[in-house]
Amino acid sequence: MTSSPKRNAKSGFATRAIHFGYNAQDYHGALNPPLFLTSTYGFESSMDGSDRFAGEAQGYIYHRVGNPTVSILEKRLAELEGGEAGLATSSGMGAITAAFWTLLKSGDEVIADKTLYGCTFSLLQHHLVKFGVTVKFIDMSTPDELTKVMNDKVKIVYCETPANPNMRLIDIAAISEICAPFETTFIVDNTYCTPYLQRPLELGADMVVHSATKYLGGHGDLLAGAVVASQEMIDQVRYVGIKEMNGAMISSFDAFLILRGLKTLQLRMDRHCQSAMSLAHDLERHDAVERVYYPGLASSPFHRLANKQMSQFGGMIALELKGGLDAGRAFMDELELVTSAVSLGDAETLVQHPASMTHSTYEPEERERHGITDGLIRISVGLEDYDDIQADILSALSTL
Ligand SMILES: *Cc1c(COP(=O)(O)O)cnc(C)c1O
Repeated sequence: MTSSPKRNAKSGFATRAIHFGYNAQDYHGALNPPLFLTSTYGFESSMDGSDRFAGEAQGYIYHRVGNPTVSILEKRLAELEGGEAGLATSSGMGAITAAFWTLLKSGDEVIADKTLYGCTFSLLQHHLVKFGVTVKFIDMSTPDELTKVMNDKVKIVYCETPANPNMRLIDIAAISEICAPFETTFIVDNTYCTPYLQRPLELGADMVVHSATKYLGGHGDLLAGAVVASQEMIDQVRYVGIKEMNGAMISSFDAFLILRGLKTLQLRMDRHCQSAMSLAHDLERHDAVERVYYPGLASSPFHRLANKQMSQFGGMIALELKGGLDAGRAFMDELELVTSAVSLGDAETLVQHPASMTHSTYEPEERERHGITDGLIRISVGLEDYDDIQADILSALSTL
């Protein structure tokens, strides 16, 4: 298959995740994209060098602004998200900070949903404000809340859906519509879903960011991030945010590993979703469990919205036990197969306690205001046999 966009546009998701943006015949027939390990690139002449810098000649210059292995990944991610262009970064936080630094200046406002990944929250709440940016947190799961506070100074509207860690969902199409009359960039962190389950750009968002450390890489062996948006915005984030502000360029080896991970993204996500659905049902039925937060459950207040904007419900579950935090800690310590660890989207099933781990960047009263309870436990359902995951979790719950 060639990388002709026309032909690929008709291919299915898995086919594009395996083939798009790479033509083996351009690289001696090598079926796997080659790994380019070079920091710099020789120019054909001094004139060629200045032309490349001026953007008037094609060609790589220096790794921080581009690398052939990384370019293949960027094209593929853009295609899968339904965006014009992509940018791969050395971490999810590298992607998020590059976008923020590029789009904001002192005096601007950011409006974000109240539940965010811990370090994203801290960036907004504790650090961006030092540079004269005003940040407001609202409950974006009620879109009217945004209508009330939207104004011309708002340069970024930001959310995760489902939100890490409490699984609140935000109506991407409704938020896009409210943003449309303003000169603002609506950014969605699509880490939990990947483009296989949800494509925010097709629902009206302007930019998607990812922690590729999670499902996109999928094997817990690297740290990476991505941004997908219009070509114009990606050029800005690359040449300002990455090149001159945070330098968070991905290594070509990590790009190579993500290209490898993408080949099984669909297979892995199908399995994550199937096992998470089974586990959500098993947990909901259990006496020791107070509440399960999973958009695939009919009892979820977000079930209808999930059916509207996601193709399946994902591999992440949050729950509260009847015994609160103490029961949660005891539960985590009883697990044998399931590992207590942060991160998510790996082959291994992982369990963690947001209030003391990923979301400890929130002050206790901030957690309360932002809806992250002390008793909340987060599970990233892995790829092991479901029977084994079920047996381990039920056995730990039976000790409570
Ligand atoms: C992990 C995570 C991030 C940060 O990504 P890193 O790759 O760890 O820098 C951002 N957003 C979400 C939703 C995450 O889960």
